[in-house]
Amino acid sequence: MFQKFFPDEWVASTYALPFEKMYEAGKRALIFDIDNTLVPHGAPADERAKELFERLHAIGFRITLLSNNKEPRVKSFCEDVVGAEYIYKANKPAKGGYETAMKNMGTVPSTTVFIGDQLFTDVWGAKRCGIHSILVNPIEKKEEIQIVIKRRFEAIVMHFYKKKCDREHIEYPKDRRPER
Ligand SMILES: [Mg+2]
Repeated sequence: MFQKFFPDEWVASTYALPFEKMYEAGKRALIFDIDNTLVPHGAPADERAKELFERLHAIGFRITLLSNNKEPRVKSFCEDVVGAEYIYKANKPAKGGYETAMKNMGTVPSTTVFIGDQLFTDVWGAKRCGIHSILVNPIEKKEEIQIVIKRRFEAIVMHFYKKKCDREHIEYPKDRRPER
């Protein structure tokens, strides 16, 4: 019943992902959520984010930032990092933004990876498009009330997702706790 929301992978942080291995495995494009996936909600790109994008650019990835946020926020983040394009007001989990991103980058679902911190927008949208979806823990605890409510429902889904991982001997982080 909750399976359609299950991520393909769950890791504690975007910054712990083995991007070089993904490229070796044939992935060529990355689609990122921004807020609470790369930096705290509304925050500009920090040194860690800038370094990550330099690394990804050097590996050879095409990158799209796919955000439900408004253009000024998404554009300014994009201008602070190298090698990324952006789509704002993406209306995730609608498929349109993901499909436009792949079209612009010249990739298909099997060569694309999505990384985001929310199940019912980020992960579900990627899954609907057949894109490998990676759920990360939110960076910051402080969130808007509508997201706090969604996190309660996420916790229910994650309860069943953990059971599936236990059955299949898949490792996962201890909890969904933010890093700050
Ligand atoms: Mg987010």
